[in-house]
Amino acid sequence: MEAMIDVLDLRPVLDREVEQLSGGELQRFAIAVACVQKADVYMFDEPSSYLDVKQRLKAASTIRGLTRPDNYVIVVEHDLSVLDYLSDFICVLYGKPSVYGVVTLPASVREGINIFLDGNIPTENLRFREESLQFRIAEAGDEFMVDRSRSFGYPAMDKTLGKFHLHVDKGEFTDSEIIVMMGENGTGKTTFCRMLAGVEAPDDSNKIPKMSISMKPQKITPKFPGTVRELFLKRIRSSFLNPQFQTDVYKPLHIEDFIDQEVKHLSGGELQRVAIVLALGMPADIYLIDEPSAYLDSEQRIIAARVIKRFIMHAKKTAFVVEHDFIMATYLADRVIVFEGEPSVDATATAPQSLLTGCNAFLKSLNVTFRRDQNTFRPRINKLDSQLDQEQKLSGNYFFLED
Ligand code: ADP
Ligand code: MG
Repeated sequence: MEAMIDVLDLRPVLDREVEQLSGGELQRFAIAVACVQKADVYMFDEPSSYLDVKQRLKAASTIRGLTRPDNYVIVVEHDLSVLDYLSDFICVLYGKPSVYGVVTLPASVREGINIFLDGNIPTENLRFREESLQFRIAEAGDEFMVDRSRSFGYPAMDKTLGKFHLHVDKGEFTDSEIIVMMGENGTGKTTFCRMLAGVEAPDDSNKIPKMSISMKPQKITPKFPGTVRELFLKRIRSSFLNPQFQTDVYKPLHIEDFIDQEVKHLSGGELQRVAIVLALGMPADIYLIDEPSAYLDSEQRIIAARVIKRFIMHAKKTAFVVEHDFIMATYLADRVIVFEGEPSVDATATAPQSLLTGCNAFLKSLNVTFRRDQNTFRPRINKLDSQLDQEQKLSGNYFFLED
């Protein structure tokens, strides 16, 4: 257990009350406990939930380390880069949610992910989804006539919260732009969002220009006494009744399936989608979307990313998105802000920078390189110390935009 505690960085939480632990701390604790058991079969249900990219990779290599010639390790995972990094074989599950599910035979990792993305099982000649899912980053923005005429900015800011200090470099941004925030848990991403939103004041009460902001919080607490439809009619009536909004946001997120259910009885994934609709349904110039992929499965993540992108480009607004699912983050991002430093102690948020330089800096800090899948264009993690990994590190190319 001692080794596991260090690998998963659990030493600082050992003396804390279990009830006080955050989602990410509990997750790592649960992984450590499962890993130290002596077993023939190990099972992990969504081990990457609540973890940042660095923690996801550590958890993945820890879980991989369990494999022996005479045991099985079974993992349910929605983050495709983690899945890719973690697995030897992949079974795809398809079907109708809440009705039935079918498990495919194990396929190789590349084949399994391609089956999932294509929505087609070639060996069975069976299509389980009408359209295939794509990741070409540049293309995602190409379908829009991008007109970035309005520009905005925020000053350099500092914020002290207990023992934590955050410095934010001055930044500028335009409309029709999505800026993704990348960084470890506890480096102040949520704090920065709250300062932009005006919920939290910077230390020197440096004036943040008043901007009209809509925010999807990271923590979603359903308190509304009524159905989803009643909630939408109360909070975002005009968007909810608007045909463009219905087509761009409401329908692709499949809200119809539970529109007449009580908000209090929704599952995590349903609540997340409701929260995304609510945030995008508010009239605002700037949308702050904190961890939209949490609780969503891989397909819902891709759909949610597409919905956010479409909405921001059509409405000519700006979005700041905090996202740990690297595939979703790179699909969404026009530019990125990287949060660097020591979590819970001292961190800096860089000014918005290009996707390439931002991802390079972020991945360098994680000592991880990505390549691009030749067919689907999705980013794939290189195995540590593989030939590509070494070559890319030598040349400083931790991330590839186009081959
Ligand atoms: P992130 O969103 O990047 O995970 P947060 O902005 O939530 O990070 O938090 C950054 C740090 O600030 C964390 O270490 C957290 O413990 C600390 N923090 C956040 N809010 C408070 C608060 N109200 N009082 C004291 N510390 C806080
Ligand atoms: Mg946060």
